Amino acid sequence: MAQFILVVVAAAIFHFMLQLITILNRCHRFRGFVYQQASFSPDHKSIEIAVRPRKGSAAICSRCHQPAPGYDQLAERRFEFIPFWGFLVFLLYSMRRVDCRRCQAVFVEEVPWGDGKRTLTRAYMLFLARWARRLSWKETAEAFRTSWEKVFDAVEHVVTFGLEHRLLGQIDAIGVDEIQYAKGHKYLTLVYQIDLGITRLLWVGRERTIESFQGFFTVIGDELAAKIVFVCSDMWEPYLKVIREKCSEALHILDRFHIVAKMNKALDEVRAGESRRIASEGRVPVLKKSRWLLLKREQNLKTEQLFRLRDLLRYNLKTVRAYLLKEAFQQLWDYSSPTWAGRFLDDWCRQVMRSRIEPMKKIARSLREHRELILNYFRAQKLLSSGVVEGLNNKAKLTMRKSYGFRTFRCLELALYHSLGKLPEPESTHDFF
Ligand SMILES: [Zn+2]
Repeated sequence: MAQFILVVVAAAIFHFMLQLITILNRCHRFRGFVYQQASFSPDHKSIEIAVRPRKGSAAICSRCHQPAPGYDQLAERRFEFIPFWGFLVFLLYSMRRVDCRRCQAVFVEEVPWGDGKRTLTRAYMLFLARWARRLSWKETAEAFRTSWEKVFDAVEHVVTFGLEHRLLGQIDAIGVDEIQYAKGHKYLTLVYQIDLGITRLLWVGRERTIESFQGFFTVIGDELAAKIVFVCSDMWEPYLKVIREKCSEALHILDRFHIVAKMNKALDEVRAGESRRIASEGRVPVLKKSRWLLLKREQNLKTEQLFRLRDLLRYNLKTVRAYLLKEAFQQLWDYSSPTWAGRFLDDWCRQVMRSRIEPMKKIARSLREHRELILNYFRAQKLLSSGVVEGLNNKAKLTMRKSYGFRTFRCLELALYHSLGKLPEPESTHDFF
């Protein structure tokens, strides 16, 4: 009886393996190669599928991509394919070497399902990379029982392809942004395209120096750079300098998002300083837990928080005065005429300069210095999708959070291009995901 069951099971497995090859031929078929047989590995944890060259088909030289006469065959290699019902799947293949007359040397052949160096098949790399856009790389590795390094490899493969094959086309508007990725002043420079029709990440540079931003212009070339019409940035001097040099014809805009962020930083500085002073003088800590009350926009506060804010605003504090100045500044964005916006800005700065609140005065001085660049925001308002830099910045931060724990420049660079670059993907025989 037991023997009979074994025979039945063996027959079922045999049948299943045949079906697997039928399925593979449907979704992952390549000219010049045939799937020979599929079987379980001795430990039954993976399925191994033997591949061989189709009779009479010549191997392709991996250097010149042309058919070439065979030379010899290397030991069998395992290419990892998309796992199936909890089983790892491997394609087994002995690579041929060719004696290429064109290249006048012996080279390993090129196989369509993988590349020379990596152990993952192209299909599996694209599969993992697509998941790695939705999950963190660690979660992706866990979900498919593979390693973090293999997910990294997969994303690197897909991003490298994407950067080599992307079309830059005409770029009307760019936004440049700095983003901190680790403690100790570790910054990246991000350059986005912010045209009305297309927004995407174009460039990731190490640091936030003149050189890192210039790297972007080296990549796109002088001809494309000369055609840029709008540039959005913050007040970071190295960026301003590069923009003056490389996009002298473009309208340079200090955009709303960067100014608001700077103002929040100043307000927070005032609050932290005053809070410390109150504590050291042993007074009632009225500013305790007030940080988000003051930094959030009023309409985003819950009712209970609104009551606490109203209560706080009754005190005669520097923080309260700074908060009111910040709130008053918001009116600036309601103007549509650059002239009236300019008048408002001048009034506001004058008021702040009399306030004796140093961090706010610093902002006012900086705004005065960059007055024209701020007013460009109003000159360009109808031609740019405003708020787009802020949206992209938030997405970049989210991407960085997801890759938490692996904050090397290379990882972040890949992760950012992968999620924000809108890069073309390598072609695939089938949509496995
Ligand atoms: Zn060749």
